Amino acid sequence: MSSNLRSIGIVGGSLAGLRSAEALRAEDYDGSITIISAEDHLPYDRPPLSKQILRGTWASQQSQLVDEEKLSRLDITFLGGTPASAFNAETREVGLADGTSMAFDGVVIATGAQLRHLPGTQGRPHIYGLRTLDDAVALRDGLSACEPGSKVVLIGAGFIGQEIATVAVGLGHRVSLVEGLPLPLLGIVGEPVASALLALPKHGGAELVLGVGVSDIAAATDTAAAGVVVLQDGRRFDADVIVVGIGVTPCTEWLADSGLTLENGVVTNDCLIAAPKVTAAGDVARFHWIAPGRDELARIEHWQMAADGGAHAARSLLAGQDATRFSPIPFFWSDQWGKKIQAVGRPDAKDEVVFVEEPDDEGRFICLYRRGDLLGAALGVSRPAKVMGYRALLERGASFDEALAHARA
Ligand SMILES: Cc1cc2nc3c(=O)[nH]c(=O)nc-3n(C[C@H](O)[C@H](O)[C@H](O)COP(=O)(O)OP(=O)(O)OC[C@H]3O[C@@H](n4cnc5c(N)ncnc54)[C@H](O)[C@@H]3O)c2cc1C
Repeated sequence: MSSNLRSIGIVGGSLAGLRSAEALRAEDYDGSITIISAEDHLPYDRPPLSKQILRGTWASQQSQLVDEEKLSRLDITFLGGTPASAFNAETREVGLADGTSMAFDGVVIATGAQLRHLPGTQGRPHIYGLRTLDDAVALRDGLSACEPGSKVVLIGAGFIGQEIATVAVGLGHRVSLVEGLPLPLLGIVGEPVASALLALPKHGGAELVLGVGVSDIAAATDTAAAGVVVLQDGRRFDADVIVVGIGVTPCTEWLADSGLTLENGVVTNDCLIAAPKVTAAGDVARFHWIAPGRDELARIEHWQMAADGGAHAARSLLAGQDATRFSPIPFFWSDQWGKKIQAVGRPDAKDEVVFVEEPDDEGRFICLYRRGDLLGAALGVSRPAKVMGYRALLERGASFDEALAHARA
């Protein structure tokens, strides 16, 4: 792909940023590539953080996505520990936290997302969140330093919260999941599926406390090293370890005066272009998703979206006005309670759901989401091959009836 860009800056040195850089070289772009990264680590993968790293079955380096040798072979300059603090989309000048700045012909924004915090909990001993490798190592060490049978309270029972709970139960701890919604994952998968998924933590041995928020985390006591989690209905839970998993927000503070449109992420067109010669991808990007049954702005926090989006954002940058539409088939997985949850397409809590395999005794099932007359998504528990079988149908915008026929075949 020919391009008149001679210098490209990628802000955010994780999955989407790295995939952008790799795609630029794959497209024979031979100008300079600089990755500006807030973290000191080389790009690493986040899914293992709440799985292998937390369990202690992987050393930290095993989550690394690239080594110095490959970066050097691809002639990519990696500036670690260098957060961007400002941006001008017109001049494509990136201000850095150390007061210097760098200007580029083209810029990819890939700054991902950061944890939401409960007020007053940051920096308190034995209270954790999980987004980065450093978070994972701290939590792993915190969990393994406790005697088996210690009290672990997770605030938030989303996918990552339940993965952490799985590991904590595996270490022999007593785990309580406190969730403000009446059912975990309700807003993502909808009521019928959230109800079916409830079997997993129940069989896994965690206590579920649903439909009530946290009003305070009171000070540590002799029987609660991390503090006492106080619920809005007055119940109190002693905790030796507390993990706050109440979601993330896109990292856009540094873009406040950039001239870009920021609305729950960096808004892009359907090609991931945010402004001329500026693209965005991964957890930070809210892109115009145009596909069968879709015409909406979407910010989708899945590994596959960051990997594919990163590469696409690079190609769009090089192609300029000839850029092509980003038409992903979203895919996510979560490993929890000895099961693998997977979804292709985009489950929507508002869509009608049909179980084509009803939940069995172990909580395995497959269901389909109907979006108008079309198949919107397929979600399954420990049915990997069958779930992936719906991908081709989603790619060609298959009708819901076709999907039901596929299920019966
Ligand atoms: C613990 C965990 C488990 C997960 N498990 C799964 C899973 O099982 N399946 C799945 O589909 N998805 C999973 N995900 C989601 C998936 O990892 C993310 O969607 C993916 O990491 C997004 O990649 P990204 O590059 O867009 O953003 P990020 O991975 O968030 O990376 C953004 C990078 O930009 C840096 N940055 C932020 N601000 C600045 C700045 N101002 N200047 C410079 N750099 C900056 C950040 O420090 C970070 O290094 C998981 C996520 C986590 C945290």
